[in-house]
Formats: sequence, structure tokens, C-alpha cells
Amino acid sequence: MDFKEGDQEVVSVTGSTNHLVGVTPKRTRKWREFMKKRTKGEKILAAALVLLAVFALALLVSLIIVASRRPPSVCFSAECVRTASMLLENMDTRFSPCSDFYKFACGRWPEAHITEGAVNSWFADRTRYLSSKIEGVLSENATAADPLPVVNAKSLYASCMNTTRMDELGLEPMINVLDRAGLPSSLPDEETAVTFSISKTLAKIQRVLSMDLLIQLSMAVDPKTNKTVMVVSPTLGSSSLPELVSSEERVAVNSREALGLRLAYMTGVMTTLQPNASVTELGTAALKILVVDSQVRSDIQKTDTDDAPTLMTFAELQDIMDNANSTGTPKQRFDWMEFLTVLLEGLNKHVSVNDTVYVSSPDYFALLAQRLHRTRPETYQRYLWWFLVTSMVPHSTEELRSLKDDLYEALFRRSRQTRATKCVKYVKSFFNMAIGYKFASMDNLEKTTAKVKSMLRDITDSFERLVDSLQWMDTVTKRNAAKKARAINSFVGYPEWLLVPGQLEDLYKDMEVIDGQFLLSMVSLKGVEVKGILNTMGEPPINDTKGWVADPLDVNAFYGRGSNAIAIPAGILQSPFYFLGLESLNYGAIGSILGHELTHAFDVEGKDYDEKGRKESWWDEDMTRAYDVRAQCFVTQYDKFSFTSKDRLNGTLTLAENIADNGGLREAFHAYEHYVQRNGEEPKLPGLEHFTHQQLFFLAFANVWCEKSSLEEDINSLMDVHSPNKFRVIGTLRNLDVFSRTWSCPEGAPMNPAGKCVLW
Ligand SMILES: [Zn+2]
Repeated sequence: MDFKEGDQEVVSVTGSTNHLVGVTPKRTRKWREFMKKRTKGEKILAAALVLLAVFALALLVSLIIVASRRPPSVCFSAECVRTASMLLENMDTRFSPCSDFYKFACGRWPEAHITEGAVNSWFADRTRYLSSKIEGVLSENATAADPLPVVNAKSLYASCMNTTRMDELGLEPMINVLDRAGLPSSLPDEETAVTFSISKTLAKIQRVLSMDLLIQLSMAVDPKTNKTVMVVSPTLGSSSLPELVSSEERVAVNSREALGLRLAYMTGVMTTLQPNASVTELGTAALKILVVDSQVRSDIQKTDTDDAPTLMTFAELQDIMDNANSTGTPKQRFDWMEFLTVLLEGLNKHVSVNDTVYVSSPDYFALLAQRLHRTRPETYQRYLWWFLVTSMVPHSTEELRSLKDDLYEALFRRSRQTRATKCVKYVKSFFNMAIGYKFASMDNLEKTTAKVKSMLRDITDSFERLVDSLQWMDTVTKRNAAKKARAINSFVGYPEWLLVPGQLEDLYKDMEVIDGQFLLSMVSLKGVEVKGILNTMGEPPINDTKGWVADPLDVNAFYGRGSNAIAIPAGILQSPFYFLGLESLNYGAIGSILGHELTHAFDVEGKDYDEKGRKESWWDEDMTRAYDVRAQCFVTQYDKFSFTSKDRLNGTLTLAENIADNGGLREAFHAYEHYVQRNGEEPKLPGLEHFTHQQLFFLAFANVWCEKSSLEEDINSLMDVHSPNKFRVIGTLRNLDVFSRTWSCPEGAPMNPAGKCVLW
């Protein structure tokens, strides 16, 4: 049939109708011979047929043209199919989207993701996945192409995995570190306390391990002199070496049980170090250490203030401590000059009592001086000694390691991690950029980075349009908000400098690993780190060209208030956050996360920083009042969410995050609408063709927060500054008019209540 030929020509050539009836000369000749033999009626009929055929062909061609200019109606790319099956697997359609959207989107997530005893959310799941990939990279032999830091990371991993070697070394590395910090190998007593000086020991602990005990050290720039000065703040004892659980993790047992578990663990560790000592005596010593810890905690709480650190001289700080209300001969005195001399030994830095220091909560230092004044030296020597010991326990012998494993299993009710998982975590805490380098050289994320940055620009534009439409805000504040939004710097994927030859080596300068010495290697790395920080003292601030606020392999996203920058690490650029096949899904997932980070610049804390990240408010009284009224709406609203009648969400604690969640989602939704205006409608998602793109946007958003958690974990999550995942979904969607319109939720439906809160 002739139409077939014509058909093919249209597709391959231009589609111009002139070419459609382009017949070959040969065929024309045959046609003439054929027509000569026909009657007049036949000829008329033939002419009509030809006309009809031409018309039909033209119609078909124009249909094909129209169709070829529109996207295929359903997206069958691998990403689309994978996302569709993921969403379908997690959804529980027995729930109505207007009654409980979290259940609707995530109801079957727990049964689809069974991992015994592990924290289960998309974030944890993707972190585990990345961790196993890192494990693969670190366990490969080093190659000639590996930069030195990568070689070192692999070597540190190998020594971490070599537990036989660790057991052979026994307690020797731990005793070595204690000795360098000026502490005895076993529990300090009256005798060891004779030569104990708290100022000297704290300085040594800083130099050896970069560990903050009682006093936290950091650096800041004094704007008057433009020089880096020390900042001292109160702190609770915590390890500077990598730990099995993060300090944010919540204990899953009541405080009485926790105390019992801690005491048993401490006595166990001490008994291992001193098998001949009396267990009762060790138990009493352990209890006293915990008492000191709780005193420090209460002193911190008592003196906690929102005030910015006070700039004073070391002499003035010394006076505050010496003049603290105490009588009699002091049992101990903190001597700042002695502390500084030991701290800066060998660094070619000279500090005098007239040099300045930022002091946060000066009252805390007065309280500390009082406690030292009244307390016998060995009590504090034991306190410091214990924190060093317990921070080295996970990196010591099998016997000690299991004691800490047992403690964490009981405290956090979680199963034991494999050695490889632990080692990945430990090595990552030192060499995250070196590991990032290996991934960056394989990943080729350039195009993705550009796309995510462009999405962030869309969301920033959307934020500006939303700000512009706000009724309660005056024009000056609107202008300042837009200025700050536009000034936000963004870091996406991997740092740009990471693959530039020499840069990685420069970052890890002097960071060496000692083969087969896991603990001592980490301690040596800490020593280099602290030396680098101390060397900045008295110097003008250096422009940190490697400034990247995050680990590139973190499954997370960040906003830095002081830098006014957003970081979207490569680690989160994976499904179910990105690469979902359609932009409606990408905007719903990573888009709402980008919006969340952006809105942090304008949350209840972020709003008091300017576009350069300086703590300088650009809000006048009226505007502050108007902001606070709207912020209070969120507090009241989120205060009402609860898991049980007594376990309620704290709307004040979670306020900044809730503001970011609500603003972020709205900004991402409007940004997607604009995307469609520019790029046209997208194809449908297979198996979910009955959903509009707006609906898919909300499904992808909710899906990010799917998790499996027990009531106990839910209750624990109420201590976090983020609302529990379920309420991050429900809380935000209930405030969004456009959500209710998208899903046709009637007024007053659980997901469409009256009294919506809107800030950004
Ligand atoms: Zn946040």
C-alpha cells in the first residue's frame, strides 16, 4: 500500500505536505497507462479517491506532527518505573489522602523495609547503603593512582579491621595516651593527686586528643583587631575520638535504668584495667565520677545564657575565677597562664595575661572555680582520667570493646554493628574528603550539580515571589529578605576543589597514619588537628578556600547561619530524594529539602543574621512583632500533636525546623508550577497515571519521611529539634491550601483544618 511509503517519509523527512504525494517518474508512467484504459465515471471516482487519500494522509501527518511535539503520555524510563514501584510499594490506599496523608503515602513502608533492630527511615537506609559502598572502597588495596590521604584512609581502615593486632597490643596504646596526658594508667588516687594540676592536665588533654572537658576551646575573630582569639565555653565531657553512637542519640531506657547500666559498665572497665582492685571501691569511684558529671551539667544549665561571649583579658577571667565566693585555702586553683603555656608549648605562640579571650557564660567559670576550691584534687583527676579511658575503650581490646557494645545495646536498644560498619564510621570521621575524592572521581556529578543548583535558583525565585506577596511584611523587610536569599551560597555534590591535583594532599597535610596502630594513629591525627587550630591564634582570619560545611557523603542537607550557605552533599543525591524520573517528583523530594534549608535563613533564629552571616538583625520592632505572632501560630499548632495523652510534641523546641519545613514545601511547590509553565506538562508515572503531577509532588514529598518506628522510638524522638517524621508530613500539608485543592479535601477534613499557619 502506498500509504506506508508516505508514512515513513513523513517521519524521517520534514512533514511538509508538498512532499507527501511526491511520486516517482516510473510510477507516474504506469499510472498514465492505467488511466487511459478507464471510463469517465471510473476516472471521476479515481480522482475523488485520490483527493480523499490526500486528505486522509494530510490528516494523519498533522496528527503525527502534533504527537511528536508532545511528550509521550507515560514515562517508561528506568527511573520512572523504579520510582513508581517504590511509591506504590509504600502507599496504603486504604487510607484517604484527606484523612491521613502520612498513612496514605507511607502506610506500608514498614513491611516493605524490614531490617532487624536497626533505625529505619529512608535516611538510615541510604546511609547504610553508602556505608557498604565506602566499605568496598576502603578495603581495596591502595593503588599508585591513590593520593596519599586515600592511602592513609585505607591504611587506617585496615588497622581498624585488624582486631587480632589490637588484642595483641593490649592496653599498651591506651596507657601510652594516658601517660602523654599526664594521667596514671589506673584509677587516680590520693598519691597520684599530689602532683596533679587541673590547668596543666586539661591543656595536655587538648594537645594530645583535642578533647574538651570542663572547658570547651574554639576560635573566633575579634573584629576590633581582626585577629583570631580563643573562645572558652562550658562543656560536658564527651569523646573527641569517634564513637559508636552520636551524641544526639536518645537513651531508650529510663534514667534509673540508665544509671545502673552506666555504673556497671564503668566498674567493668575499671576492673579490666585493675583486676586486683576491690569492685566495691571501683563502684564507689564510678559513682563519684558521675556525681561530678551531673554537677557540671547543673552548672551549665544554671549559667546558660543567650548572651554573646564577653571579650575580656585572661587576667580578668582569672580574677572572675579567683574572686568566686569561696573561703579558706583552695584545694585546687585553675591557673590560666599555666594552662596556656602547656597548651601552646612548641608552637611559637606567646600569650600574656593581657591578651583577650571570648568567654561564654562567665558565671560558669566562677562556679567551676568554686567547685575546684572545695573539692579534693583526685576527684577531678579521676573525672578527667575516666573520660579519656572511656573514649579509648571502643578502640582497645576485645574485652573492653564488648563492654561498650553491651552498654550501647542496652542503653539505645539497638543491635550490635558489624566491625566493618564501625570502621567505616571511624575512618570517615577523619578522612571524609579523601573517601569523597574516590567517589567524586567515579561519580561524574557535574550535570547533576548544575541541575540541582538550577532547582535551588528556582526555589529561591519562588521564595522571593512568596515574600513579595506577603500582606504583613513591609517593603523594606521584603527587600532585605530578598537580598539575603539571593546572597545564599550553595555547595552541591562534591567540593569543586576536591579533584584538583594537590588539593586533597594540602587538606590532609601532616596527617599521617601509623601502620597497624589504630588507636595511636587516631590520636596522632587529633594532635595534628588541634595544632592547626591553635596555630591560628593571634593571626588574621584566613580565607578558607576549602570551606565546605559538610561531609560530601552525608545523607543530609545543611544550612550554615554563620556562612549563609546551603550544602547539599552528594550523599543525598540519590533515590528517594533525587533521580526520581520526573521533575514533579524531584521538586517534591529534594526540592522541598532545598526549600527547607533556604527557609532556615529566615527561621526564628536564622532571621537575626544578615546576608553575610553576621548576627545582625534587620527586623524592626513592628516587623518582629508581626513575625512572632505568626511563629506563635506554629508553636500552638505543633504543641497539639501527640503520640499518647502525655507524650506531646514541643512546639517551641521544634519551631525553627517547623518553620523551615512549612516554608520549604510551599516554595518547592510554587517553584514546580513555574517549572511547568516554562517547560510544559510532564508525562505520567506508570501505574500511577491517575495521579496529577501536583499529586505526585506531594507523594514524593511524603515518601522522603516514611519510616518504621516503635512507640518508644516515637516518644524518644520528641526530644529532637525536628518534629517526628509523621508530623513533618501532616503538619506542613495541613497548612497548605494548595494541598487540599490538589486532593479535593473538603474543609474541615483532618488534612484540611481551619486556622492554617503561614510564615514564608
Ligand atoms: Zn532543618
